[in-house]
Amino acid sequence: MMYELKVTPNIKIIPLSNESIGVRGFSFLIKIKQKYDILIDPSVSLAPIKKGFVPHPFEITIAKLLREKILRLSSSADLIFMTHYHGDHYTIPWERKLEFTNKYIHEKIYYHSIKKHKQTFQIIFQEHEKKKVLSKKMLFAISPKYVTWNQIKRARYLWERPLPENISLHPAENTSILLEDVEIEISSPLPHGYNEKRGNVVGILITDHNYDKKVLFSSDIEGATNPKSMNYLLRKEADVIFLDGIGFYHHKTEQSQINAFIGVLEMLLDLGKEVIMAHHFNRSEMREEFFKQYGLPYIKTVFERIMGAHFLLEAQRKELWSIYPFKEEELNPKKPYYLYLNGEKFVNSLYNNYPETKRYFEFLDKILSN
Ligand SMILES: [Zn+2]
Ligand SMILES: [Zn+2]
Repeated sequence: MMYELKVTPNIKIIPLSNESIGVRGFSFLIKIKQKYDILIDPSVSLAPIKKGFVPHPFEITIAKLLREKILRLSSSADLIFMTHYHGDHYTIPWERKLEFTNKYIHEKIYYHSIKKHKQTFQIIFQEHEKKKVLSKKMLFAISPKYVTWNQIKRARYLWERPLPENISLHPAENTSILLEDVEIEISSPLPHGYNEKRGNVVGILITDHNYDKKVLFSSDIEGATNPKSMNYLLRKEADVIFLDGIGFYHHKTEQSQINAFIGVLEMLLDLGKEVIMAHHFNRSEMREEFFKQYGLPYIKTVFERIMGAHFLLEAQRKELWSIYPFKEEELNPKKPYYLYLNGEKFVNSLYNNYPETKRYFEFLDKILSN
């Protein structure tokens, strides 16, 4: 594998769509014991409008390429987790241009299983004390009753349709799955953000009992600013935490929420935990200021931590449009944007005018080529 975070020899994390590569997303491929492939929240999306600007072709390009990569990986995933049904986490079963999805893509992501499983594996649902030996692809999704009305229709599409024979679907919340000595524990429903208005999500904790190490994926708890999420985060004592963080892009990010977030970060850092900023926080250019303003040590983004660099395209959208003002004819929606990336002339002119893009495209090559 060309890029990954090795938490232990049994747990390797490969980020897919994420703000730190230039799209909205919280999707990860996790390789467990070199045998089991797990996907968290396989989807990708883009902010429709940011400071009055539509997505830049760079963003559209990377979103499309990541969607293709996720599609490839989903066919060989053993387990897929859906923490909730927002489009940046869940591949919505109808046409969504900026998420590169439709009914067909949805079915391919969740239902398609081209390989025969490498072996049958034992899964123990500890909550229900069920032991199962399964050779199916398994989907775990938060139960629709825990999400907001605008997510329910999307959720029902998954829950109320007959599934292909080689796929099984299970409620994710409060479930624990043991893959030999590696355990995946799904939280109880946690508020989507600071207050309870936006429904719930589930967090995912992966423990390697052999090495006594834990890694946690927060999903959209907005930096664990709600006491319920804060309690979960501290109680689980994970060594590595992929934390979404608060989103400054909201019109009214309350000061009390910012203070709660600072409190969470201070506690985690004091405890010597490794925090990786993994989602909402990276949508705003205010992130750099934040650390200075509140006297906190800088916390890396996902790709910065794993690849040594990041490209926060949404945060820099205005700047991108001013540096690369694509002409009307170049933005013909019928024209696949990604061809530009392969066009040598285009790429060379980018390298010359904006040396940073060279790193970006080399970076993309690495990420997309495996
Ligand atoms: Zn969400
Ligand atoms: Zn999200």
